[in-house]
Amino acid sequence: MKIHEYQAKEILRQFGVVTPRGIPAFSVEEAVAAAEKLGGSLWVVKAQIHAGGRGKGGGVKLARSLAEVRELAGQILGMQLVTHQTGPQGQQVRRLLIEEGADIRKEYYLAVLTDRATQTVAVMASSEGGMDIEEVARTTPEKIIKVFVDPVQGIQDGQARELALGIGVPEASLAQAIDTFKRLYTCYMESDASLAEINPLILEGNGGIKALDAKFNFDSNALYRHPDILAFRDLDEEDPDEIEASKFDLSYVSLGGNIGCLVNGAGLAMATMDTIKLFGAEPANFLDVGGGATTEKVTEAFKIMLRNPRVKGILVNIFGGIMRCDTIASGVVAAARETHLAVPLVVRMKGTNEEIGKKILADSGLPIIAADTMAEAATKIVAAVQ
Ligand code: GDP
Ligand code: MN
Repeated sequence: MKIHEYQAKEILRQFGVVTPRGIPAFSVEEAVAAAEKLGGSLWVVKAQIHAGGRGKGGGVKLARSLAEVRELAGQILGMQLVTHQTGPQGQQVRRLLIEEGADIRKEYYLAVLTDRATQTVAVMASSEGGMDIEEVARTTPEKIIKVFVDPVQGIQDGQARELALGIGVPEASLAQAIDTFKRLYTCYMESDASLAEINPLILEGNGGIKALDAKFNFDSNALYRHPDILAFRDLDEEDPDEIEASKFDLSYVSLGGNIGCLVNGAGLAMATMDTIKLFGAEPANFLDVGGGATTEKVTEAFKIMLRNPRVKGILVNIFGGIMRCDTIASGVVAAARETHLAVPLVVRMKGTNEEIGKKILADSGLPIIAADTMAEAATKIVAAVQ
């Protein structure tokens, strides 16, 4: 799960990481009131969407008067903000963060993330903050300093120091930088994050270290123990089909292709997507209906897949273990009827009550294409959508 920058900064403050003072705003009036309350003579008006690159896209602007805060808030609120992370359609801005302006001497990059390859927690820092870190990684990888932290031991002082020296933090600010790195690590661990990123982490004119931007990804499987973080969820920022699927306990992820797939079991779903690709097409989604798929669940799954206008065909691939093939077959027939299915449907089922299931499909009178092996199923659906 992702959250907004202003929420991320609330979490950082709880862990003692210094951030600028700021107030979220949902309207132009609230934005002006927030700036008035913050005081001073320089404010930053920041679009709050779950995507980075807002600065380049025109979603982060400096204001030097309350009138300018009003004008910029009016421009940014409601805009369709396009960044390299939103896709060409962009994301509508519904929330703002109004912050006091910062005196930036230097912008660094800092992130803590799960590193699967080494089974450790990677802490990365760079002297090249503010901009696109992927670009830095591509062109000047030596400017990214990494340490790998054993999660049992936690981050060591020496590691935090190595990072701070590696990115060139000046002597007078070293202690605060080291302290900030350790605090971000603790924050990452205690909040069950999979990514905690500060870009830019700044060195201020007076030598202070401050988080000017913040981004978190949380492990959804751990959210049950963080009700305060779960409360930050913003459904406006999530894929509506994925939200609908989660109501029916379906694991669904939208993808870019044109073949919808309905499968039981995450492993089989992955294998099915691979097979579709192997035969030259692209899956439109990942969909695991789970172990106990009822007719109702299968029908909902069909409806969700069919809401995607790119779907030109559906492949159902079922392994009947505890789940019997005849149950799935009845569900598929009912779902095809209820949704007035107008795209080709290939069904492959194996396992318990396979013969009964195949008979239900054949007797339904629906134009369902049967397949026996994965290769046959993939060949048939790929041919049907072309
Ligand atoms: P992102 O583009 O979505 O990553 O948004 P950021 O919050 O990182 O803002 C982008 C850039 O705006 C930063 O790298 C800074 O250079 C600039 N910026 C953000 N806040 C301030 C501020 O308070 N003062 C100044 N001068 N620049 C700021
Ligand atoms: Mn940023």
